[in-house]
Amino acid sequence: MYTSAFRYAYQAGAGVSQSSGVTARKAERQADQVEARCERLAMLCEAMWTLMSEKLSVTDEELIDRINEIDLRDGKLDGRVARDGPMVCHKCERPIAERFPKCMYCGAPVARSPFV
Ligand SMILES: [Zn+2]
Repeated sequence: MYTSAFRYAYQAGAGVSQSSGVTARKAERQADQVEARCERLAMLCEAMWTLMSEKLSVTDEELIDRINEIDLRDGKLDGRVARDGPMVCHKCERPIAERFPKCMYCGAPVARSPFV
């Protein structure tokens, strides 16, 4: 009785351990995919920046100023894009849902960001 209960608990523990291993490998694979996508995006940004800089003579200082300007939109210089809070209608300043093409209060078209 004691032995079979111990064996059952051991096998159940092994199952949990095996399941944890599968979950960990899956999470590791997803992290690798996210890292690969981030590297690809960084490469694309660098390509776009060097082209823009060469073709339009935009300076690194102008780029840094723009990055800081975007960073400060939420009042915090923290290296993050502000995505907190609901969107607000540019006309009536009421909260709006991005999924609708127009403000449900005043009918103004919802301005969409190309980066969302
Ligand atoms: Zn509105």
